[in-house]
Amino acid sequence: MAKQIALKAYGKINLGLDVLRKRDDGYHDVCMIMQTVKLFDKIELVQEAQSGIALRSNLNYLPDNESNLAYRAASMLLEEFGITQGLTINLQKFLPVAAGLAGGSSDAAAVLVGVNRLFELGLSTKQLMERGIKVGADVPYCILRGTALAQGIGEVLTPLPQAPPCYVVLAKPPLSVSTRIVYEALALDGMPPEAHPDIDGMIGTIFRKDLYAMASKMGNILESVTITKYPQLNRLKELMRSYGAIGSLMSGSGPTVFGLFDDQQKAQAAYQDLRFGNGKEFVKQAFVTEFYQPLMTEDLEKRPAPQKGYGGGFRKPGGGGHKPGNFGHQQGGGPRPGGGYQQGGGTRQGGGYQPGGGSRPGGGYQPGGGSRPGGGYQQGGGYQQGGGYQQGSTPRPGGGYQQGVGQAGGTQGGTSDASGTDGV
Ligand code: ATP
Repeated sequence: MAKQIALKAYGKINLGLDVLRKRDDGYHDVCMIMQTVKLFDKIELVQEAQSGIALRSNLNYLPDNESNLAYRAASMLLEEFGITQGLTINLQKFLPVAAGLAGGSSDAAAVLVGVNRLFELGLSTKQLMERGIKVGADVPYCILRGTALAQGIGEVLTPLPQAPPCYVVLAKPPLSVSTRIVYEALALDGMPPEAHPDIDGMIGTIFRKDLYAMASKMGNILESVTITKYPQLNRLKELMRSYGAIGSLMSGSGPTVFGLFDDQQKAQAAYQDLRFGNGKEFVKQAFVTEFYQPLMTEDLEKRPAPQKGYGGGFRKPGGGGHKPGNFGHQQGGGPRPGGGYQQGGGTRQGGGYQPGGGSRPGGGYQPGGGSRPGGGYQQGGGYQQGGGYQQGSTPRPGGGYQQGVGQAGGTQGGTSDASGTDGV
């Protein structure tokens, strides 16, 4: 029988998204709190005797060639390793497309992981992440997953302790947004300081596991572009709040809006009303889900309090931001609008942050170079064990309930509206 592998490609939301500056190369330096959610595309990879890649998807408008990030990820690895066999990629999309949930990046990440295993290439997670950045800025994070700080153009990653658990309601309006166009339209000059979310403060709330404080720190500077263009997104955010969300925000460049809930019933009611009641004119797809945390980051939970974390300099929130050499912000108060990073621990040409110090000209993720606070994601091969990438072979994190109000084709531990998806 042909060798094959089944994978889940999880989506992400941004609990915080700041843009620090536009770089000379056209990219933007960002500072984002990323969080994986239990909503995923399903990917099946089949090894074929004949060379070539064939991609099949349940969404016929998605490209089936190099323009598809999943295809591109596969072809990059097969070419690099001179693989003469072929590959079929069966992609079942559940994540809304062009929605701010990193669906394409996550598909690419899963394909990198899957091809590595299927063809026994022997690449480490670090090596996969280094290749991932060539496909897209969010791909290394989609390989890492969990709660993480993303800097540089998104590829300089610092795993964080698991964000406090809650229910997440996602609402995707009937709009598609181009990430590139949103970034191009972002006017950082003249942006008041308060328009920049307090990412440092949010990190503190995550360490303290204070859900309410974390929700109060949520912010996304890209709302200034996307919500100005589509004011109905504000209405969606308000609706989330009216259902009892403790915080609501646009994810990525939008247009998906999410609300965090401390109560499952409230989250369910919000989902129902968004889908079938007051929200239905604004919403094409809606989901109820939870945060997803790969088991490998459990190590982080065992770490001591934040004061000494991240290379010995993390300051308690309220103390004026992080010291240089930690999260890369300037001392005395978080990100400097338009100013890029200023850190004592070492700067990287072209911006970005390298936790733990040292200077890194150029780009690319440097796992093992200090970005692993307290250990964790590279240890023990934990990424592939219990991390939930491979379908059917791992326990379901989150304690194992899988509801079925709506069909949970691409969700785990939550309910979903699978309209526009191919539910199973
Ligand atoms: P991000 O949050 O990283 O900006 P997104 O969720 O906004 O991503 P995607 O769903 O990744 O956006 O899709 C962005 C574009 O990429 C779409 O216009 C789509 O045509 C293209 N694309 C390429 N490959 C894929 C894929 N596997 N899944 C979805 N879109 C893809």
